[in-house]
Amino acid sequence: MFIYADNAATTKMSRAAVEAMTPYLCECYGNPSSLYALGQRAKDAVEAAREKIARLIGAEAREITFTSGGSEADNQAILSAAAVGAKAGKRHIVSDAIEHHAVLHTLKKLEREGFEVTLLPVTPAGIVEPSAVEGAIREDTCLVTVMAANNEIGTIQPIEEIGEICRRRGVPFHTDAVQAVGHIPLDVRTIGCDLLSASAHKFHGPKGVGFLYARRGAKLVSLIEGGAQERNKRAGTENVAGIVAMAAALEEAVGAIPENAARLVPLRDRLIAGLARIPHAALNGDPARRLPSNVNFCFEGIEGESLLLLLDDRGIAASSGSACTSGSLDPSHVLLAIGRPHGVAHGSLRLSLGEDVTEEQVDYMIGAVGEVVAHLRGFSPVWRDLVAEKTQFVL
Ligand SMILES: *Cc1c(COP(=O)(O)O)cnc(C)c1O
Repeated sequence: MFIYADNAATTKMSRAAVEAMTPYLCECYGNPSSLYALGQRAKDAVEAAREKIARLIGAEAREITFTSGGSEADNQAILSAAAVGAKAGKRHIVSDAIEHHAVLHTLKKLEREGFEVTLLPVTPAGIVEPSAVEGAIREDTCLVTVMAANNEIGTIQPIEEIGEICRRRGVPFHTDAVQAVGHIPLDVRTIGCDLLSASAHKFHGPKGVGFLYARRGAKLVSLIEGGAQERNKRAGTENVAGIVAMAAALEEAVGAIPENAARLVPLRDRLIAGLARIPHAALNGDPARRLPSNVNFCFEGIEGESLLLLLDDRGIAASSGSACTSGSLDPSHVLLAIGRPHGVAHGSLRLSLGEDVTEEQVDYMIGAVGEVVAHLRGFSPVWRDLVAEKTQFVL
């Protein structure tokens, strides 16, 4: 048995995406900037992909800039809004404590350059409250950046309400929608965002390619100097095959959203109910406002890393929030932000389901996690102290 339950980290490429990209690797390999037919065919493919992606998110083609992925799109969105803000003497940014590191580390860099960043807390369920966003906006706020869905605990944020507030207050709004695009219905006009980041490998496209939506009129600064590609907003020869594959993957993913959600939500909830029967365990994130694929639990008295290794032995590829950056022993900033104490945050498990997951696989995971958690607790000094009432259970 092998179950890949780490789809929030990356997904396998869809057949349609592989087939769409293959001709652009060996046959139609021209440089889109070249004037002969072979180059122009590559250029046409890039522009057709741009049109398709734009249509799938409710945008116009010229509002889409291709990047190397979600991290680059986040960096470019935030640094662009900061540059525009700085010119107008506005150096304050509003965000929240559970953003991806591509956002948080970019904000840290801006802080070192003299920007002031307000990181809003989240509710115990992991929701950013629109009223808190409204309260944090100041005269000198040049950007609000709040993710569409969280990569660790799967919470879906009220970005339409936040977008409405930002529009009313005249503040640019960016959303890191890497976990949402291709997974839940999404339209940039409905959200009312100025900037939106996405990444192909999170929706069955290839790794190393993504896009940044920038509403017409929203200025982008280039992070990479060089040629005039992407209307001077992103130098470098286009990743033609990757871009074509991303558009094919997105078309397929968006088309399958209703059907996938109808299939996944009951299986996700079956997995949640099964894991909730393990003693001293708790679901992380909101039970209802969450991605159809996401299950995240804390188990008291164990280490997430040991859990992952033993699950790997049983054929389950999963993730723990406790060592997102490998080598780091810091517990997940997301779990700490929703109020999990350090010790409990270390014992976390994220299972992010693929669309093809079966009920048998869900039941196998419930059984395997239950056994492995019991096994690890069997020789955990932390668990022994809890049972001996030397320390208090939190969950
Ligand atoms: C994966 C992810 C990113 C980074 O995307 P890459 O394409 O891997 O650089 C950014 N934000 C979120 C929410 C993600 O899940």
